[in-house]
Amino acid sequence: MLTRFAPSPTGDLHLGHAYSAVLAHAAARAAGGQFLIRIDDIDGSRSREDYVAASLADLAWLGLDWDGEPVRQSARLGDYAASLDTLRARDLVYPCFCTRADIAASLSAPHGPSGAVYPGTCRHLAATERDRRRESEPHCWRLDTARALAIVGDLVWEEQGQGSHIANPLAHGDIVLARKDAPASYHLASTLDDAAMGITHVIRGADLIAATDVHRLLQALLDLPTPLYRHHALVCGPDGKRLAKRDAAASLAAMRAAGVDGHALAADLLAANLLAGRLPTGYSLQMP
Ligand code: GLU
Repeated sequence: MLTRFAPSPTGDLHLGHAYSAVLAHAAARAAGGQFLIRIDDIDGSRSREDYVAASLADLAWLGLDWDGEPVRQSARLGDYAASLDTLRARDLVYPCFCTRADIAASLSAPHGPSGAVYPGTCRHLAATERDRRRESEPHCWRLDTARALAIVGDLVWEEQGQGSHIANPLAHGDIVLARKDAPASYHLASTLDDAAMGITHVIRGADLIAATDVHRLLQALLDLPTPLYRHHALVCGPDGKRLAKRDAAASLAAMRAAGVDGHALAADLLAANLLAGRLPTGYSLQMP
């Protein structure tokens, strides 16, 4: 069994990240497997080295040891580009020149699991216009989701202990695979990384259940293995809302500085998985 914890170094980790890391670590160790760290630093403008160091210090403080060196997405850009090339050669992606404002202004943009669904404007551009604009205009690359699905057919993925989910990537519309400002989107990078790292069990928050439908489609298109998934409940704060990076009080760095015993906290989080009462006062576990 190989599990992973994949923090984005864009802020301090909080109790929810600790819960995720503790579950992934415990699952690997119980099975005599490996627990790997991946630094999701694809977003060059928001990622910071001090957050990388702080995240690793948080994990050590919780008593979670990891195997090998942390993998960095910023070191894997060549792989992302190669996969995008493969999809481009199969005519499954297209350049999109729309701005966020263009999409928001589109009357037909319905809401999907991850925000406004792209109305498909640039999918219909003539090849000549596409090529001309690619020379001079900033663009992202989108998957032609319906076309991709027509090739691979119906897809399922497995939630550990709960059975199969039928994937519905169409609900996301034509998702972005390479951003204007980053060479791969979270969806593409994460799917490729999990496969390259040999991850057998993806353990992460239930906020990413819908994203798994997209990842399953990318696996089918790129001939990658499908791991088992476990989407766990989210840690919510005293206001009942799931924790965010701006919730300074729940940050692990703040608890560390306040002298909280990290190993004891990790044990409590693991127990909280079965017994909600073990979370620090005011916090709760909830499924979205
Ligand atoms: N870096 C992502 C996050 O922090 C990881 C998501 C995942 O586990 O796939 O949300």
